[in-house]
Amino acid sequence: MTDVQFKNITKHYGAEVALSNFSLNINSGELVSILGPSGCGKTTALRILAGFIQPTAGNLLVGGHEILELPAAKRGYGMVFQSYSLFPNMTTFENIEFPLKLRKIDAAARAKRVNELLDLISMEEHAQKFPHQLSGGQQQRIALARAVALEPPILLLDEPLSALDATVRDQLRDEIRSLQKRLGITTVFVTHDQQEAMAISDQVAIMRSGQVEQLGSPRELYQNPKNSFVARFVGISNQIKSTKIGDAWKVLGSSVSGPAEFNTGIAFIRPEDIKITPNLDGIAVVEEISFLGSFVRVFMSVEGNRVIADLQISEAEKLIIGQQVELTIRDANPLIESI
Ligand code: ADP
Ligand code: MG
Repeated sequence: MTDVQFKNITKHYGAEVALSNFSLNINSGELVSILGPSGCGKTTALRILAGFIQPTAGNLLVGGHEILELPAAKRGYGMVFQSYSLFPNMTTFENIEFPLKLRKIDAAARAKRVNELLDLISMEEHAQKFPHQLSGGQQQRIALARAVALEPPILLLDEPLSALDATVRDQLRDEIRSLQKRLGITTVFVTHDQQEAMAISDQVAIMRSGQVEQLGSPRELYQNPKNSFVARFVGISNQIKSTKIGDAWKVLGSSVSGPAEFNTGIAFIRPEDIKITPNLDGIAVVEEISFLGSFVRVFMSVEGNRVIADLQISEAEKLIIGQQVELTIRDANPLIESI
C-alpha cells in the first residue's frame, strides 16, 4: 500500500513559514490535487514528500512507514515539473531510457520497456527526435513516461501543464488522468488552476497559507465549501447580503436555514442555484443575457448589487432585458458568513 500521510508538517525558511501544521491523507491509488494560490506552500509539500527537503517538524508516512529518514533516491518517486526537464542532447527514446540505464537494466529489457512506454503515450513515431523538435505537450508526455519508467510507487506532478497553451493543456490533463488510472499509481498533482484540479482528481486539498483548508471530492468542495475562501476558489458564487428573521435566513426571496450565531451575513450562492420568476413586483431587473453554448448566463441587478444566474436554454427563452423578476434560491442550506 502506498497511502501517504502528512502529519502536522511545518517548514520554516528562516522567518518565512512555508508550511504550518500541514496534514493530509492520500489513499493508495488515488489522484489528489493540492490546489492553492501561488506561495501557499504547494511545492514545499511536494518536495518534502519527494525527499528533496526536510521539514522543520512533523512526520510523513508512506504505507504506514515513517520515511523522513529515507533519501530521495531510496524513495524513488516519479516526478514531473512545470518546466520541460528533458535532456536536450538525448532523443525521446534515450530520455525515457535514462532511468532504466541508471538502474543497470540490460539493453534488450530497456528497449522493450521504452517501446511499451512510447506506446502508452502515443509517441512511437517521435522516438528518434530531440526535445527541440517537439512541442511542449509532447515533451511533457515524454517527461511523464520517463517518470513512470521504473514503476514508482508514487507519482508527483508540480504544475506540469502550466507552461502549455489551453487546448494542449486540457488534452494532456485527460491523458494524465487516464494514464494514472491505468497504472493505478498514487499521484499528487500540484496546481493553482481550479478547473484543472476539479477535472482530474479523486480528492482535492485546498491550501491556504501553509495549511489544508479543506479536503474533499471536487463535488463536495463545490457543493459544500466550508468557507468563502474555498467557495471562491472552486467556481463562482453570488455574494448576497442576507438577514436572519426569527429562526430562518432570508436570502433573496427564499427562507433557508443558516447559522444561529449572528444576524446579518453574506450568503454564497452558485449561479445555477438562482431561480428566476417573472414578476412585475420583483425587485430584480434583468440587465444582460449571454448565450454561452450549453447554458445561458443572466445578469441581474438587485438593489444595486449584481446577481448572476445560469439557466438552461429553454428556461431563459422568455426573459427580456429590463424585465422585473423575483429571485429565489434552490440551495436549502447555503454557506452564510458573518459580515
Ligand atoms: P507554491 O508552490 O504554493 O507557490 P512554495 O512552496 O514554493 O509555494 O513556497 C511557499 C513559501 O515558502 C513562499 O512564501 C516562498 O517564498 C517560500 N519559499 C519557498 N522556497 C523557499 C526557499 N528555498 N527559501 C526561502 N523561502 C522559500
Ligand atoms: Mg510551486
